[in-house]
Amino acid sequence: MAKKKKSIREFVLQYFKRHPLEELKHGPVVDWVRKQYLKEHKEPPRDPWREIRKLHQEGTLIKVKKGIYKYDPDYVHEVELWEFSAETKKAILERDGYHCVVCGRGIEDGVELVVDHIKPKDKGGTNDISNGETLCMEHNLMKKNYSQTEAGKKYFIKIYKKAVKLNDKKMIKFCKCVFDCYDYHKINGHIKRPNGKIKAKGNK
Ligand SMILES: [Zn+2]
Repeated sequence: MAKKKKSIREFVLQYFKRHPLEELKHGPVVDWVRKQYLKEHKEPPRDPWREIRKLHQEGTLIKVKKGIYKYDPDYVHEVELWEFSAETKKAILERDGYHCVVCGRGIEDGVELVVDHIKPKDKGGTNDISNGETLCMEHNLMKKNYSQTEAGKKYFIKIYKKAVKLNDKKMIKFCKCVFDCYDYHKINGHIKRPNGKIKAKGNK
């Protein structure tokens, strides 16, 4: 029975897995992979280095610095560069109707759309369709640069709930006012406020 020949990728992984947590320079890795591959395939491998970069992009290898990578079995899923697959991206865009979920604008309005991780990758967010949302560049930047506004909204939700428990009308009113402000500026609409809008009184 013919043994299934190993791919470049499998050889690269094999080498890294044999040296867990070691900071490996690409030279010796590539040399080893080239040797093993040549033995099995009777021809040299094509660009093993490319495969290392790809494994890094997928979140399997950690880049220590230029040309040096390591494999950490516990860290495999936490690398920032881990992205949605092309298919998942398409599915998310289609689900959202090719419109920003915050402002509702689409390509026809002249905005560029990106697929964003609702829960960031470095906080354990997955690459599932359910963790993706379509954003325009403006709202994507806003999310990236002002992620504290999310924490702020969540914090006010906590305060609001406490105020409801204590029947603290003044604080309840204050929190609603804060949520209205979030709504008015279309910020963090993906975090549901715990109450409906209140009618603004006085000056419109
Ligand atoms: Zn938008």
